[in-house]
Amino acid sequence: MESPIESYLRHLHAELSEQRDGTVYTPGGAPSLANPDAFGICLATTDGQVYEVGDTRTEFTLQSLSKVFTYAVALSDLGFDAVDAKVDVEPSGDPFNEISLAAGTGRPDNAMINAGALAVTSLIKGSGGKSAIKRIVRVLSDCAGRELAVSEPVFTAERRHSDRNHALAYLLSSFDIIEDDPTTVLENYLRHCSVQVTCRDLAIMAATLANGGTNPVTDVQALDLAPVERVLSVMMTSGMYDDAGAWLTAVGMPAKSGVGGGTLAVLPGQLGVAVFSPRIDAHGNSVRGSLASQRLSQELELHFVRAA
Ligand code: GLN
Repeated sequence: MESPIESYLRHLHAELSEQRDGTVYTPGGAPSLANPDAFGICLATTDGQVYEVGDTRTEFTLQSLSKVFTYAVALSDLGFDAVDAKVDVEPSGDPFNEISLAAGTGRPDNAMINAGALAVTSLIKGSGGKSAIKRIVRVLSDCAGRELAVSEPVFTAERRHSDRNHALAYLLSSFDIIEDDPTTVLENYLRHCSVQVTCRDLAIMAATLANGGTNPVTDVQALDLAPVERVLSVMMTSGMYDDAGAWLTAVGMPAKSGVGGGTLAVLPGQLGVAVFSPRIDAHGNSVRGSLASQRLSQELELHFVRAA
């Protein structure tokens, strides 16, 4: 028997399937493997219920969605002060790949834009014989509740077309924000961007954030509470780049997008929302992802500002 929430999601999905604006991300013009029409919506609650409709089991790459989780890992491993010394918590309102570093110090505005994420990636070290990227993939997998992996073809395409991110890594190194080899940092960054997930995984990852770092389906503690609270706060102002203000007013949930077509939004204490649809707008945000999140926020009353 279909539940009311499943029936609601099915109608929303059918309605928004008509929307075909936007273009599919192709690193450096390389052909994309993504089906432009793919579309999935998934909700996961903090008590472990998962509701899904459409293409929720199709894999795509995290891209910038990984920034949320790497920031939490760095905050856990190094503590807030050490991370804050390298990356600020100010909204930049900039495009994701903007060369925006503070004058004089080179400190990126926040961990949600590429400059900040490169700095964060450089702070994460491997331990106990495990490389930094293994540590990151472990945490991502714990958040999703299944073993995730890097897509080597996507990683190779990203690396071949990474001049701008490479330049950013060197610039950060010139300010000593990055202290390791910039090329190694860039490769680790591109690897975690190239981790493959499904829309269902992403909803469970969002629900893990909503649940203070404990995966509500597996009960595994993937992240610590204080870093999760910090990450959600920064997502609020900076997760959607130069569209963050419009998001905050229309959707009212901390959120993050990736150019692979994934969008996640979090209602702390209650649920995680994930949408997968590869056509993206000029900000790099999924067109259907933004529309579906807006509708869900309005119709299920998820906006954090509710006066009555
Ligand atoms: N790998 C992409 C980049 O670094 C991710 C960008 C994104 O998803 N916004 O340019």
